[in-house]
Amino acid sequence: MEVITQPPMRAMAVTPHPDDCEGGCGGTLAKWIREAGTEVTIVLCTNGDKGTSDREMTSARLAETREREQQEAADVLGAKEVVFLSYPDGGLEDTKLFRSQVVRAIRRHKPEVVLAIDPYRSVSHTHRDHRMSGQVAVDAAYSYAWSYLHFPEQIAEEGLEPHRVREAYLWGSESPDICVDIEGFMDNKIDSLAKHASQMGGRLVNRGERYRRWASHSAERTGLPYAESFRRIQFNIGSTDWQLLNT
Ligand SMILES: [Zn+2]
Repeated sequence: MEVITQPPMRAMAVTPHPDDCEGGCGGTLAKWIREAGTEVTIVLCTNGDKGTSDREMTSARLAETREREQQEAADVLGAKEVVFLSYPDGGLEDTKLFRSQVVRAIRRHKPEVVLAIDPYRSVSHTHRDHRMSGQVAVDAAYSYAWSYLHFPEQIAEEGLEPHRVREAYLWGSESPDICVDIEGFMDNKIDSLAKHASQMGGRLVNRGERYRRWASHSAERTGLPYAESFRRIQFNIGSTDWQLLNT
């Protein structure tokens, strides 16, 4: 498995629910921000308003709590901005509106790398919002954000420009092929997860331990103590190649 050592200048994590990106790539984001000054934007797709077993809790109160927790977690990591799309938990669909919102965020913040959940699984199941957000993130990265004929009103009316994302890193993958060494950044990851207090229910210690074991497990094949692993998709069709392919 290839160990990625070159941080991007700008990165964007597209997360379906509050806390998913801290679990999937929080160590990587913290490392890039601290070591390279990477500008990180987090796109939070849903407000997480179903994530409770407390019968006294309402969706409205929970949404408010969880969006605040996401902002606090992003602050712990050192992210530059959180973009709140505020879809209801369990309500993500692969719609033109959702794609346009992720494309707008990409064109505005210009990430070289987009991080998202791997939407494709063959032997295991994942939350519907995870599939939808992963698929839309990858599609938005390539080729919607790149072509000025997609969502041209963003270019004509909002002053945005097409943007070419270099690659996507997908966490939660059944077949990861790259990883990032996050030794020294596990505490940042766990501290950011701890901000999602509504989801912890006193389980933080166990959860922190679980993430340590998980990161350690993912690093077994690399020889690194702690790592976050991803499936990498490179959108490496340069303009010359593109012209060749289309002539
Ligand atoms: Zn989730």
